[in-house]
Amino acid sequence: MTTTVPPLAARAAAEGSTAVAEILALTARPEVVSFAGGLPAPELFDAEGIAEAFQHVLTHSPRRALQYSTPQGDPVLRACIADRLTARGLATAAGDLAVTTGAQQGLSLLVTALLEPGDSVVVEDPCYLAALQAFRLAGIRIVPVHCDEEGIDPDELARVVAAERPKLLYMVPTFQNPTGRILPSDRRAAVAGVAARYGLWIVEDDPYGELLYEGEPTPWLAGYRGAEDRTALLGSFSKIFAPGLRLGWLRAPAEVRSACVRVKQVSDVHSSTVDQAAAAHYMTTADLDARIALLRTAYRARRDALLEGLADALPDGSRWNRPRGGMFVWSTLPPGFDATEVLYRAMRHDVAFVPGAPFFVGSADPGALRLSFVTHAPEEILEGTRRLARAF
Ligand code: PMP
Repeated sequence: MTTTVPPLAARAAAEGSTAVAEILALTARPEVVSFAGGLPAPELFDAEGIAEAFQHVLTHSPRRALQYSTPQGDPVLRACIADRLTARGLATAAGDLAVTTGAQQGLSLLVTALLEPGDSVVVEDPCYLAALQAFRLAGIRIVPVHCDEEGIDPDELARVVAAERPKLLYMVPTFQNPTGRILPSDRRAAVAGVAARYGLWIVEDDPYGELLYEGEPTPWLAGYRGAEDRTALLGSFSKIFAPGLRLGWLRAPAEVRSACVRVKQVSDVHSSTVDQAAAAHYMTTADLDARIALLRTAYRARRDALLEGLADALPDGSRWNRPRGGMFVWSTLPPGFDATEVLYRAMRHDVAFVPGAPFFVGSADPGALRLSFVTHAPEEILEGTRRLARAF
């Protein structure tokens, strides 16, 4: 007897693998210099300090560290995060926060808690790809807003919002993925004003803010007048600690936070108790600021190496930016170049990047590409740019 099974749900079938994803899977080969994935430098993980933290909690409080817990997250860890946010200018109590399994889960929780299928969200164009995928998976309509070198244009945002009436604005205002751009303070104030005027939720996704290489930090959008009562701020340990821990947090108004915690309970009960306890121990005993200072110094040198190498590698007429922080340089090749075709050639020279087209919601620029500078040491980065030059 032959039996069949029903098809996959349409939403799961739609977010399939792409040719680009398949080729990028090849970047794991050790000989490839990869500017593709945003992989933090593995040799800069504080493996010793993290091992010590796990050892401590498993020795001193194994019964608590290995037991089920509550969905809002470890109170000590939340208090540590709240103190950091407060010290950086955003008054936060432990009770304002929920721990998440990475910022990515925070976004999924918000989508479930705030949006119905068919609702609209407004995003920067280009936008973080996995956010677009999370919205698509939930059947959400995505409305793009054109961005310039400084990010989203508040007047254009107001025009789009008035016409489309979205429920939510999703943004990465600080060192955006994919462009590395930072939204200046005056635009943040204007964006907050637009959100308040039209009654929008804001999701401020901020995994990169601590990776600042020059200049002063720009305050979180969440703290601007008009944004305070409507912003869910997402943070992450992935870029300053270790992405494999899968720990992030969500700071949101009480009603939204409670809804997210209820959704989280259904989704994964809670984030790993032992990981949270180890992170809390690390934050209370190790010098996280010193770690971050070390990352900033190393990544600044890597950014500079990439910028130096690109000047000789990319064809005449190419443009690229000089991000003040984060992980990414955004470049645009001259008319006639297609970054996806260039990627195939680049892979034959053992160097990779990510074509920019998939990050766009509106009309994609085929010549756009994203280059991450954090994974390799400066000399490898320079070798990568020489290979890129050969690919051109
Ligand atoms: N948001 C943005 C903008 C990101 O770039 C990333 C990481 N690629 C995430 C969220 C997800 O981070 P996490 O590892 O904390 O889930």
